[in-house]
Amino acid sequence: MANDSVFVYSPDLLGYKFNDTHPFNQLRVQLAYELLRESGCLDDSKIVLPRQATDEEIMLIHDKGYVEAVKKAGEGKLSKEIGLNYGLGTEDTPIFQNMHEASSWIVGATLTAVDWVMEGKAKHALSLSGGLHHGFRGKASGFCIYNDSSIAIEYMKKKYKARVLYVDTDAHHGDGVQWAFYDDPDVCTLSIHETGRYLFPGTGSIHEKGAGKGYGYSFNVPVDAFTEDDSFLECYEKSLWEVADFFKPDVIITQNGADAHYYDPLTHLSVTMKTYAEIPRIAKEVADKYCGGRWIATGGGGYDIWRVVPRAWSYLWCVMNDHLPAGPIAEGWLTRWDEEAKHPLPRTWEDEASIYKPIPRKDEITSKNRATLEKSLYSIRKSS
Ligand SMILES: [Zn+2]
Repeated sequence: MANDSVFVYSPDLLGYKFNDTHPFNQLRVQLAYELLRESGCLDDSKIVLPRQATDEEIMLIHDKGYVEAVKKAGEGKLSKEIGLNYGLGTEDTPIFQNMHEASSWIVGATLTAVDWVMEGKAKHALSLSGGLHHGFRGKASGFCIYNDSSIAIEYMKKKYKARVLYVDTDAHHGDGVQWAFYDDPDVCTLSIHETGRYLFPGTGSIHEKGAGKGYGYSFNVPVDAFTEDDSFLECYEKSLWEVADFFKPDVIITQNGADAHYYDPLTHLSVTMKTYAEIPRIAKEVADKYCGGRWIATGGGGYDIWRVVPRAWSYLWCVMNDHLPAGPIAEGWLTRWDEEAKHPLPRTWEDEASIYKPIPRKDEITSKNRATLEKSLYSIRKSS
């Protein structure tokens, strides 16, 4: 095998930008890329260039009318009223120039990652600009226009006849991907997220288990607000192993949103860098055991773009390559970004022991999450 892992990247992926004040900021992809380069963890031989997805590929998932609307919106030719019908021009998903082209690059990047893995040219591939898991067939939602993960899954089904396991550890429920394959027994979705009680998109309960032939192939583990590393990882590790053992996928695609971190401004979970080292480690082990190593990883949410996302996504790449950086952060990266950063940049890869005060309800949250996990996996445990 020529390459164990490849990193799909070019500046074309940074054009996905709503406006200067929007929380979704693709500068984080560049920040992660540069941190890896400065740390000596990413050399030219590992980088592959993305391509733009074709309309045909985008329409593997999205309705033609929606794609046309996104194109028109990006050319300033869509009326406000029609835009809103498609979720375009909302506060979450504002219209920006060339939004179709920018989104096509992201979809194309994830498809590039898929082809490298499925053609056997690499075992693992990383598409950090992807993971836009809230995009629906005919509607933009939650900062997401085209759902690159859903498109990639449908593409893998059609082109490679693959059974796909989708694993989503973003703090928000992976709703777009779940609903796209809700009645499909060849695609299994697992989402571990903050309960939808107080958080967008509100779905992702343990009762969403699939429909028709797909019943029993959709898994959700909604954890409580303020969940910390140990409990989050317990839910993730147990559910992933059991679901993988039940489904026996040909390939795994993970959505690696980094917004469950304590510092994230949009969510209420309390995980730290420890979790972001463990998530890829376990995904890799599962891919090795069930899929001959085949693993495609994407980015996703992540709104503390200075203190959290660059380190978390660098970990993802490094762990993919059997390495975990530790100790001081590369001086060159700090010098480059110190002034521009909205928060003091972290000086070490690890979080300090106490970035937050002890959570008073820790035991209660842990037991509650355990009960949720039991119920989520009940259908598998019952039949085994
Ligand atoms: Zn999120």
